Amino acid sequence: MTEKVRVRFAPSPTGFLHIGGARTALFNWLYAKHNSGTFILRIEDTDRTRSTDEYIEAIIEGMKWLGLDWDEGPFRQTDRFDVYRNYIDRLVREGKAYYCYCSAEDLEERRKLAMALGKTPTYDGRGRNLKEPIPGEIPAVRFKMPQEGHTVVDDLIMGTIEFENTQLDDLIIMRSDGTPTYNFTVVVDDVDMKITHVIRGDDHLNNTPKQIHIYRALGYKTPLFAHLPMILGSDKTRLSKRHGATSVMAYYEMGYLPDALVNYLVRLGWSHGDKEVFTREELTGYFSFENVGKAASIFNPEKLLWLNSQYIIHTPTEILAELVMPFLVKENIISEDQDLDKEWLCKAINTLKERSKTLVELANSLRYYIAEEVTFNEKAKEKFLNEKSRDLLAELKSGLESSPEFSHQELEKIFKSIVEKHGVKLKDLAQPVRVALTGGTESPGIFEVLDVIGKEKTIRRLEYAIKAIG
Ligand code: GLU
Repeated sequence: MTEKVRVRFAPSPTGFLHIGGARTALFNWLYAKHNSGTFILRIEDTDRTRSTDEYIEAIIEGMKWLGLDWDEGPFRQTDRFDVYRNYIDRLVREGKAYYCYCSAEDLEERRKLAMALGKTPTYDGRGRNLKEPIPGEIPAVRFKMPQEGHTVVDDLIMGTIEFENTQLDDLIIMRSDGTPTYNFTVVVDDVDMKITHVIRGDDHLNNTPKQIHIYRALGYKTPLFAHLPMILGSDKTRLSKRHGATSVMAYYEMGYLPDALVNYLVRLGWSHGDKEVFTREELTGYFSFENVGKAASIFNPEKLLWLNSQYIIHTPTEILAELVMPFLVKENIISEDQDLDKEWLCKAINTLKERSKTLVELANSLRYYIAEEVTFNEKAKEKFLNEKSRDLLAELKSGLESSPEFSHQELEKIFKSIVEKHGVKLKDLAQPVRVALTGGTESPGIFEVLDVIGKEKTIRRLEYAIKAIG
């Protein structure tokens, strides 16, 4: 019988959930879902100086927004110090770890000396031979790494990689202040939580041989490893703010849909033929490591924006109507307690969803439908609201007033008769009307706009534009 898959996302809460972390979380989540396994969230907060509760909250908020739900946790490493302590004592008792009394200054001096001699600055292992504790001094604990041979990492993505053991330091597993360190806690937790697959960024690849020796010393089987290639910016340097927003929640703020971001993130490293748009069911169905490449991927904000526009087009309008509400408030288009007629809002959104790449754009386009009065774009006003168009607008206004109907057909008839009478083109009428109704020169089809704005408001706006011409 094969083991049930258990994977984990193990962020250090020293910052917000960012693009790279979210991609790691997503690949773990997908692998768990694909295999009907268990996905665990573990907060690695042993670095007390850099971890904060706010960042823990922010990471959880980002995971929830992306819909990456976990089955167990969130566990916090700071709640588990007793567990680590027990394992450390055991290793010391068994002679697999030892006390080290070297001060930070001593170590720094030796490091500098090694550098000056052109050698890799590794710990010289002098504590290994200490027989008795030094009274009155609090030691750190170091792990005894093998000093010869090599260690092989068989990675599901990166393949087989060999590390020379001489490059592995006797690493500190507990600092003299009593706090355990990353490479040790990660192994203890992965053992305790019965993790079967460690899926993480390849910035941890160099830690893997060290961790393998800790597994062996503790007498446990190593999990399988899958290291994900880096995500780089367009200039092939490590992804940073220079390449666009990197915090996941910044994409929420900018009006991205979580499914669009998930879809984008999965393609940073994974592919399925040349398919680009996936539902979550497709993703969980298709996902495997075989189709994760070894090469770094490039973060491309334009492609993410394109995907978002696709998701907006394909999201049911009633759902968009709900999603856009907080953005209408944030963009000062409606007040917090203002309600909009749902059916009308959906009708308005239907005219805009094909033209809005983000929810922020959608909200801002809805502004001219919702506002009491239009605000003219100065250039548009200058170009289209003038002597020439005044008569056309006035005629349209009276045409609408005297028409009992406001149907598309009827509107078309009224427009046509005005255009014919004046010997102008439809756009010579439509463009001034567009400016009168929306304030600008870009909008959905003019009859759609009229339909959403409605007869009364349309007449009022025409009147207002005629007055503005003077
Ligand atoms: N806490 C580590 C990090 O945030 C992850 C460690 C791991 O996945 O093994 O980089």
